[in-house]
Amino acid sequence: MTEAERRRALDAVGAEVAVCTRCRLHQTRIKAVPGEGDTATEVMFVGEGPGFNEDRQGRPFVGRAGAMLGKLLASIGWAREDVFITNVVKCRPPDNRDPEPDEIAACAPYLSRQIEVLDPALIVTLGRFSMARFNPGARIGQVHGTLRPAHTDAGAPHALAYFMYHPAAALRDPSVEAASMRDIAGVPAALLEARKVRSTAQPSPAVAPREPTPLPETNDQNYQTDPTDQLTLF
Ligand code: URA
Ligand code: SF4
Repeated sequence: MTEAERRRALDAVGAEVAVCTRCRLHQTRIKAVPGEGDTATEVMFVGEGPGFNEDRQGRPFVGRAGAMLGKLLASIGWAREDVFITNVVKCRPPDNRDPEPDEIAACAPYLSRQIEVLDPALIVTLGRFSMARFNPGARIGQVHGTLRPAHTDAGAPHALAYFMYHPAAALRDPSVEAASMRDIAGVPAALLEARKVRSTAQPSPAVAPREPTPLPETNDQNYQTDPTDQLTLF
């Protein structure tokens, strides 16, 4: 898929989400929040669902949790514009309650299509509901900061998933914030690992191979000598 085709396909998902009535969350939303970011990225961040501010603006992670996500990304020299950010459900659950299983199921095809189009090397999950999609049955306290194949039904057969606490949990609890800072520091190395997995994996016949993004030599060397070194993405 070319860059322009990818953007068109993501816009099409966004247009459907904007008028979607597949679950009850459409009744209380102001704006649906399909997601946004760099359509050429190798990395997707997947949160839970829009909150108050996201619902008003139609954009993901623009409130206090978004500021925390920005702070986490900044600590590794990344910006939100470098990645693609979306959520498990695209419309705000009233009063920020947890999304219900039937709402998650109704919304799942949109996330699957986004994953299929972006074909990310790495999917970073934020919080329990996002983790559950890629690592069913896992406990966030045990798997945060770890990497494993993302067993998605659609799209990214060789993607790895990396699990993090939800940024809102980091806002509430300084020990979770400290853990999140340590976890995000592992993301650049997770991306390098994910690239390695993709480069050795057989492309699935259903998915067109995508041109790899060149990795600057210096970053490669950083990683070889010290995996904790910060990696600049682009
Ligand atoms: N929390 C989420 O899970 N997603 C958002 O977009 C904002 C807050
Ligand atoms: Fe549609 Fe998802 Fe919004 Fe439910 S949450 S109305 S499935 S876009």
